[in-house]
Amino acid sequence: MNSDFSVPLDRLVPIFVRGFSPYFADKPDAELMKFYGCSRLLRLNNNENPLGPPLAARHALEEFSSRGAAIYPNADSFDLRHRLSEVFWLPPDQFLVGSGANEILGFVIRSFCQSGDNIVTADRTFSAYESVARFSGIEARLTPLKDFEFDEKALLAAIDEKTKLIFICNPNNPTGTWWSKERLYAFMDRIAGRRIVVLDEAYAEFVERSEFPDGMKLIDQYPNLLVFRTFSKMYGLAGLRIGYIVGSREVVEIVRRASFASSINTPAQITASLALGDPAHIFQTREMVRIGKEYLLREFRRMGLNPIGEEGNFLMIRVPMNDALVFRKLMLKGIMVRTMTGFRFPNHIRISIGELPAMQALVEALEGILWKNANAEQPLP
Ligand SMILES: *Cc1c(COP(=O)(O)O)cnc(C)c1O
Repeated sequence: MNSDFSVPLDRLVPIFVRGFSPYFADKPDAELMKFYGCSRLLRLNNNENPLGPPLAARHALEEFSSRGAAIYPNADSFDLRHRLSEVFWLPPDQFLVGSGANEILGFVIRSFCQSGDNIVTADRTFSAYESVARFSGIEARLTPLKDFEFDEKALLAAIDEKTKLIFICNPNNPTGTWWSKERLYAFMDRIAGRRIVVLDEAYAEFVERSEFPDGMKLIDQYPNLLVFRTFSKMYGLAGLRIGYIVGSREVVEIVRRASFASSINTPAQITASLALGDPAHIFQTREMVRIGKEYLLREFRRMGLNPIGEEGNFLMIRVPMNDALVFRKLMLKGIMVRTMTGFRFPNHIRISIGELPAMQALVEALEGILWKNANAEQPLP
């Protein structure tokens, strides 16, 4: 039966929502393998840690009881915030835990922005700053990268009286470029506390250079700084959706007002507490990334493919053909990389660094696709 009612969506839906296209999620691995006819799938597309979570966290996950599943989680991740406090020497109320970057960035944007306000960030960086702002009806002002790096001059020029937040990704996903201490401090001094600066350090745990800044150490000096970190990358907990922000007491208190309590499930809180700072795990992961990166850099250069930056657990390269085509050809061989057209880098792919055999499989497959079969097009699904 047809309904007698017609829903006046043009009146009900905000104009900024009407402009969205729906999010298309990747198919599950099993579906992809069926579609591309491959018997294994190497996931090199999301910068996940193939070593998985640290041992203690893994054991806790295996032992998580069904009784625990029946109980609501602690609403503000009490134990985890105390563990963060112990590790980073800042009071527990300067930490706010959330369910992944989208949620946490949403809290921050909701806390500071109202209709007519804007945020400033780069055009070719992690897309969540832009997308979460737009989802909230807030303008995202994007400035071009310069030499693949965040350009402080352009960022400063984009700021106006309606700018509330500036997002910096350090090191930047997907370019792997980064700001030194000197550059970050100079930028923060120029901002002089007048705007909130969100420093996304999702990959900070992978960087070992002494000139790389540690945002958490700057919070006392810059009370307008909010540092974002995640358990998805170094700690291998992407499936549990957990990350956090750190900032001055007064700024975090504001963000806490605009955040949902109870968004983090109990296994995520428990495993994150156990994973945090595990030295053996960090050592092992850095070692894996170092070996994989050295290998890839050597091989890519031999193949005439020049990686852009080098920090983080990923590398981005320019390929001499359409990135979607390279993606499909690699999928036929069971290797999943990230196409970069969506990051405004057409003809580039980003590869997550994993264990050496996976890296070797990638190089072999890529070499076959780019050179050996250059003239022999294969049918694609
Ligand atoms: C992966 C990533 C995050 C964190 O994502 P989660 O939602 O916590 O998994 C944040 N920023 C950047 C730049 C990332 O690449």
